[in-house]
Amino acid sequence: MQNQIVLITGASSGIGKACAEVFAEAGAKLILAARRRDRLDTLAAELQKNYQAEVLCLELDVCDRAQVETTLSKLPNPWQNIAVLINNAGLSRGLNKLQDGSIQDWEEMIDTNVKGLLYVTRTVLPGMVERQQGHVINIGSIAGHQTYPNGNVYCATKAAVRALTEGLKLDLVGTPIRVSTVDPGLVETEFSDVRFRGDRDRAKTVYQGLTPLTGRDIADVVLFCATRPPHVNLNEIILMPTDQA
Ligand code: NDP
Repeated sequence: MQNQIVLITGASSGIGKACAEVFAEAGAKLILAARRRDRLDTLAAELQKNYQAEVLCLELDVCDRAQVETTLSKLPNPWQNIAVLINNAGLSRGLNKLQDGSIQDWEEMIDTNVKGLLYVTRTVLPGMVERQQGHVINIGSIAGHQTYPNGNVYCATKAAVRALTEGLKLDLVGTPIRVSTVDPGLVETEFSDVRFRGDRDRAKTVYQGLTPLTGRDIADVVLFCATRPPHVNLNEIILMPTDQA
């Protein structure tokens, strides 16, 4: 990955932050995007100190189409030459039966997990096609394969990520651009805090009785995916805690 430019959305915590660390260690130049700029700046300082990484931080809300287009289409040279796009920004909101669900929660999940991923990809992809080089790695979920009780809308967004990954792969056949999805089971991050709106006690119950994956576990697989020889595309990888059904 030496000197390759890697854009990571949702780099301010969890899996995105862990990806930033492993790609910095591998010598990549990083564009870190998220809404919490202060967190990105702290992470960038750590990566510069520990790995002498070159880092560009972008305060970016992936749901804001105009902001995504403006920010990503006006990157300073040579940051436009994105070699790997990691579409990681995502969230889950309250688990509910559809008849009781919050429409605001549904919109937030669809806007972030599906539309946000599309906005970012649509802005970055033309440059990859022009340069005939690139790799789009989407962070999906086991929820895109197995719908769980009360997970209706979140699972639907992650099924959409799978379908979009497959569709994009087909769109790019005949080019050297690679497309992959990495689909984790339970990973211990701030994800559950977000889901339960900061109720940490409730969030902790999610991991009771099993050893969850760590952000680093996922980041190692994302790096593996990105470092295969050019003729090898890992279309889809599912990784689960050993004790998760
Ligand atoms: P975290 O809550 O720790 O991280 C989520 C990241 O997404 C944050 O950096 C957050 O940054 C960013 N984000 C959320 N909304 C936006 C937005 N509108 N614009 C830009 N960035 C945004 O959770 P995880 O690391 O666990 O989640 C990362 C991905 O992994 C998600 O797509 C999630 O669905 C997926 N996943 C997680 C699993 C788990 O068990 N944890 C299992 C399977 C998949 P900020 O708030 O600063 O904008």
